[in-house]
Amino acid sequence: MADIPKKITVALAGNPNSGKTCIFNMLTGTRQHVGNYPGVTVEKKEGLCRYRGYEMTVVDLPGTYGLTAFSTEELIARRFIIEEKPDVVVDIVDSSNVERNLYLATQLIEMEVPLVLAFNMSDVAEQNGLVFDIGQLSQLLEAAVIPTVGNRGKGRTGLLDAVIETAERAGFERTHTIAYGEEIEHELASIEKLIGEKESGLAEKYGARWLALKLLEQDGDILTKLQNRDVIDAVRKSIEHLRDIFGDEPETVIADRRYGFISGACQETIKTTVELRHNTSDLVDAVVTNRILGLPIFLLLMYLVFQLTFSIGTYPMGWLEIFFGWLGNTIAGFWPAGSEHWLKSLLVDGIIGGVGGVIVFLPNILLLFLAIAILEDSGYMARAAFIMDRLMHKIGLHGKSFIPMLIGFGCSLPAIMGTRILENRQNRLTTIMVIPLMSCGARLTIYALLIPAFFPERLRGPMLWLIYLIGILLAVVSAKVLRLTIFKGETTPFVMELPPYRMPTFKSILIHMWQRGWMYLRKAGTVILGISIILWAAMSWPRPHDTSLAGLTAEQAQQQKLAYSIVGRLGRAIEPAIRPLGFDWKIGTALIGATAAKEVFVSQLGIVYAVGGPDESAGRHTLREQLQANYTPLTGFCIMLFCLISAPCVATAAMTRQETNSWGWALFQFFGLTTLAYVITFIVYQLGSLLLY
Ligand code: GDP
Ligand code: MG
Repeated sequence: MADIPKKITVALAGNPNSGKTCIFNMLTGTRQHVGNYPGVTVEKKEGLCRYRGYEMTVVDLPGTYGLTAFSTEELIARRFIIEEKPDVVVDIVDSSNVERNLYLATQLIEMEVPLVLAFNMSDVAEQNGLVFDIGQLSQLLEAAVIPTVGNRGKGRTGLLDAVIETAERAGFERTHTIAYGEEIEHELASIEKLIGEKESGLAEKYGARWLALKLLEQDGDILTKLQNRDVIDAVRKSIEHLRDIFGDEPETVIADRRYGFISGACQETIKTTVELRHNTSDLVDAVVTNRILGLPIFLLLMYLVFQLTFSIGTYPMGWLEIFFGWLGNTIAGFWPAGSEHWLKSLLVDGIIGGVGGVIVFLPNILLLFLAIAILEDSGYMARAAFIMDRLMHKIGLHGKSFIPMLIGFGCSLPAIMGTRILENRQNRLTTIMVIPLMSCGARLTIYALLIPAFFPERLRGPMLWLIYLIGILLAVVSAKVLRLTIFKGETTPFVMELPPYRMPTFKSILIHMWQRGWMYLRKAGTVILGISIILWAAMSWPRPHDTSLAGLTAEQAQQQKLAYSIVGRLGRAIEPAIRPLGFDWKIGTALIGATAAKEVFVSQLGIVYAVGGPDESAGRHTLREQLQANYTPLTGFCIMLFCLISAPCVATAAMTRQETNSWGWALFQFFGLTTLAYVITFIVYQLGSLLLY
């Protein structure tokens, strides 16, 4: 008994002249008939194709460059796909001109149709010296890619097999879509939500994300379908907002992003043996993403960014320090000199000391964000991630993870926020976990204190370099281990978008910079304020009885008070545990303080050694001498090591909680890193003591 043939509908889409008609003929032979699409005089060709027990109805859609509502052809092709729901859409791509031809594919991808790409004209492509990594391309685009030569009937069976396979796994879900960048995604999300609520019928039929995109693109056909005023108003507002930020029509920016997606996919999968450079963007990319030049150029740019950040940032930082100094003195002036009123101490030592100490870094942070915003908006950051992609893949991460890790050298807070660019959750969690191993700016203050205290001039530079390097190496190893264990899962290949370079608008840069700066300020105003107060209280209470302080100098009294306080007692309590690392209770006390903010370690140690006086620089000098007298260089090194690896500051933990939406991960990071720090420091100290002394 003969099987009843399974029926499937296949629509052929493609740019004009990509060879659609040839492929159509190749598939259907003579079994075809020509008509018109209902109501218009656009030719509709249909034909039959029997293969492996399937009966396929093949429809030759009108040739189009995209699927907008601007031309009748595009509208017809789009309507056919939406209304008739073909089982498979075959996009005929002129593979000698992929980048331009794939634009249509991006729109088919967005419509979530079961897609097969026929890389037609593969003979021409070969002549032009193009070599495709078909396997990878197909993974990146999540569609079968089949090379064909339409006019010579090559690739028929391959294409048909792919069509059947794709039809059979209908309903599979794409793991990623084209990302449109923070601003557009934000508007898309809110429109999608609104459509889901107020135009649920439309959302059902077209898919909310696709509708939202079309609305932002001001697609006439879709706009007229909208009934609800709220949605119409929201769309208009979103468009105006985006126009304002980008200084360009949202449509144009969206198209740019699609080209960026294609460009990224092609950069990774297409090699040209002949130089075929089209425009300036390509020319710049030829240099900037070059295998040999790419990395040095990137490192140089980063060096310039950090250099600029710190050299320009020093001035406003100095002004802020002066301001907070003045503020502290002015407030202290409300009490008689030498007064020990608790409110004075809270305001001056606790709040202004704690919060002010963090706000003085604001200029640096704003400058760093400004530089990053410029690099991002101009399109360079995408290239940087692209260059690092290969290396990052080796440790199971995505090239994009590199950007937040880089920001981590400034401060972990924005870095953890920056992991939002990672779509894959496992990747994102891994990156968040290792970010604190990137030595942040606050830790630099610790190194700046300790290195000159223990190491001769010629070893200072290498020491600093070594500490940073240890952090990076540990991050690399930890990431790899995490990816192999708790954050297991294959790295789904992502297209690294390479949007064309564009002149960033002043406004969007300022907005980007300000958004991040504001987060930082808010943190200083809430979390850090709270912690400063708690820490101050824990350092001030309980107070020893006045009689026990009699006869002591002011400095000795201060030390006595600290030892008596909660923090001091905690320091003593943990002393047995940290002894094997070479630390005493004084260091323990400072380490507890450092969990509030790493730079607190320095001020805390200053108080413990009772040298934190009004004359800061002289105080530091003496503190160094004190450290030198009390500890060995090995202990000094171990302190740095421990501060580098151990628990991130509380603000970082809070940020991890916020971004992972789980206390579990925040605690895992906090205690995981502390344990790691303990183990490593233990080994280094014990081995070091054996070998050196
Ligand atoms: P359509 O506009 O997409 O329907 O394209 P056609 O099928 O009419 O083809 C346009 C031109 O490209 C014709 O001259 C074809 O002979 C030629 N052509 C189609 N496929 C190939 C191919 O794979 N290689 C080469 N070299 N030429 C092709
Ligand atoms: Mg044709």
